[in-house]
Amino acid sequence: MKFLPLFFDLKGKSVLVVGGGEVAQRKCTLLMKAGAVVTLLAPDVKAELESLVHTQGGHVHKERYCDTFLVSKILVVAATNDPQVNVQISQDAQSRSIPINVVDHPELCTFIFPAIVDRSPIIAAVSSGGSSPVLARLLRAKLETVLPATYGKLATLAERYREKVKGTFTTINQRRGFWESVLQGQVADMVFAGKDKEAESLLISELDAKQTKIREKGEVYLVGAGPGDPDLLTFKALRLMQQADVVLYDRLVSQPIVDMCRRDADRIYVGKSRSQHAVPQDEINQLLVKLAKEGRRVLRLKGGDPFIFGRGGEEIDLLADEGVPFQVVPGITAASGCAAYSGIPLTHRDYAQSVRFVTGHLKDNSANLPWAELVHPNQTIVFYMGLMGLSIICRELQQHGMNPETPIALVQKGTTKDHKVVISTLEQMPADIQAQPVSAPTLIIVGEVVSLHDKLKWFDPEAHS
Ligand code: SAH
Repeated sequence: MKFLPLFFDLKGKSVLVVGGGEVAQRKCTLLMKAGAVVTLLAPDVKAELESLVHTQGGHVHKERYCDTFLVSKILVVAATNDPQVNVQISQDAQSRSIPINVVDHPELCTFIFPAIVDRSPIIAAVSSGGSSPVLARLLRAKLETVLPATYGKLATLAERYREKVKGTFTTINQRRGFWESVLQGQVADMVFAGKDKEAESLLISELDAKQTKIREKGEVYLVGAGPGDPDLLTFKALRLMQQADVVLYDRLVSQPIVDMCRRDADRIYVGKSRSQHAVPQDEINQLLVKLAKEGRRVLRLKGGDPFIFGRGGEEIDLLADEGVPFQVVPGITAASGCAAYSGIPLTHRDYAQSVRFVTGHLKDNSANLPWAELVHPNQTIVFYMGLMGLSIICRELQQHGMNPETPIALVQKGTTKDHKVVISTLEQMPADIQAQPVSAPTLIIVGEVVSLHDKLKWFDPEAHS
């Protein structure tokens, strides 16, 4: 082990930071977060940094470095761009046995800063011992995904009941067993879902009963999986995917995303394709209730966002009636994903001040959309489920007064390795689509913003596969 990780108590302690720029500011911010009283030393100090140090009760000296500033400091950070001064500070600090960090110069340091995940009071620190700070940062990003933002709250709750638990259970083994099941069980799940009061009541009742309850009631997580690229999942989606006991997913959820669910979770495909429902909606709703009532944590994974043409509202309606707890996690909807990956801003100050999401699943061959309302200047229209009705959409928009030259984009399997964009005009698109194969799911974007694709396209599906 090249470095021993230690956690310093800096509350109210004097530390010296030498340097007046960006880097010094980052270090000051971190040190002050830990409660240190910072003395900042540099001939030139950024105004923002100066006021930051002052507002936190620190001292600023606009002078050159001299070793008298080391007196009674317990830690020193050098962030100057003068190599000689850095060396001098390092030597002076070491000869006084004060821990020293010279930013980006491991050879001059007696301690280094780790990459930190702050879920106070829980702190995770990662270091590569200076060999690859980027690798340490990547690992930190991984930890960020598995430690929910509310992780610290769980630790605070546990701290408050520490003594009481000690008084209730006499042996260390009993206490450990109790805490292990609390911190991995329903109490923890409730804290992560923001249900602090319920979590505390459950903890108290489990403590009174001197045992943790077996999960009687499960929960349903209605989670948006985004348009396809697994990198577009939210941290919360990923965490719940890795914790659920059973997963119900449909056709729109891409395979790489299904593969990221907990390995030993049961998987149930309830896929739907247009006009052919593998499992009728009603049965899906019933199944969610049944599984949750068996005490299982049920993940209902949906493409895009569950509340945008996703029937999410219908699915949780029955859960609410049946008193089954649920959480809803938004996902990146197809419109956002496809537009972003196609270089088509949905709004743009010069072209569109509003955007409408419309279903293109036409009943009665056209009658059921408010066409006149859609034909509106400076508005982008996004049609979901519009491939089958594409020619009707193009025709109706023109008949209701939209310029036949209006640009239109069809995005196939947006954000995935099969991402493909076809650009045309309202007049030409139906013929263009006849000429080439496209496969679902596809999204249709109509409006002047589509013309920006040519210049702003950036995503290369080949490089992504
Ligand atoms: N809840 C989803 C939409 C479900 S409706 C969401 O928020 O995205 C299904 C329609 O979404 C499809 O017919 C298609 O129009 C669109 N869609 C979903 N994923 C897509 C993708 N990766 N590329 C293009 N269109 C997509």
